Amino acid sequence: MHLGTFVHEVLEHLYGLPHEERTVDAVKTLAGQLWTANEWEQKVLALEETVGSIKDFKVAAFTNMVNLWDLEEPAETDLDEMELKLDTEVEGVRLLGFIDRLAIDDEQSAIISDYKTGKVPNAQYKTEDETFFQLLAYALMLEASDGVPTSKLELLYLSHSTKLELAATPVKLSIAKGTIVETKENLDKACSTGEFHCNVTNLCNWCHYKKINICPAHKQ
Ligand code: SF4
Repeated sequence: MHLGTFVHEVLEHLYGLPHEERTVDAVKTLAGQLWTANEWEQKVLALEETVGSIKDFKVAAFTNMVNLWDLEEPAETDLDEMELKLDTEVEGVRLLGFIDRLAIDDEQSAIISDYKTGKVPNAQYKTEDETFFQLLAYALMLEASDGVPTSKLELLYLSHSTKLELAATPVKLSIAKGTIVETKENLDKACSTGEFHCNVTNLCNWCHYKKINICPAHKQ
């Protein structure tokens, strides 16, 4: 999470520079400045469990940052918004989100993109609707709050120099809307009955509730 946040932070500042100044050298300079200014070394060292040294963290972060050039030419990329906060309702469900990057195309529709520092999802195990759910939800929120339709969604997997794209069609948006409504209904039901069913997956290994031994599925 820290690695992703640091990479996002540096790239946000990179796109705050005039087009011609968006170079790999500028990334290096910004990364150095933000590393010190925002005390990243202290934050990483304070982690209970680390997955390598500070040097490993820096190398991985910098690799993610410069891989951006495999996906686009930053000096020629126009963005209209970064870290855009959305706080709105979709079908009566209150949602909060932050769009990494937003560009308005010639038809006045939004192109929403999001940086990812994790693995590219395996299409065998994750459907397109699941992979793009977060961005489809952002598109629904943008339409609800600002009346701006979305034409395209982009996931920028920096560590693997891979860009996934999806057209934000009415069918895809409707499926995401259904998921939002269903999730809220299930949450409300669980809150009213007090029954929260365990959803055991590989992600449990990163779950705090497993670690502190209060998850019923893993209680010893
Ligand atoms: S450890 Fe328990 S609470 Fe955490 S994700 Fe797994 S099932 Fe859910």
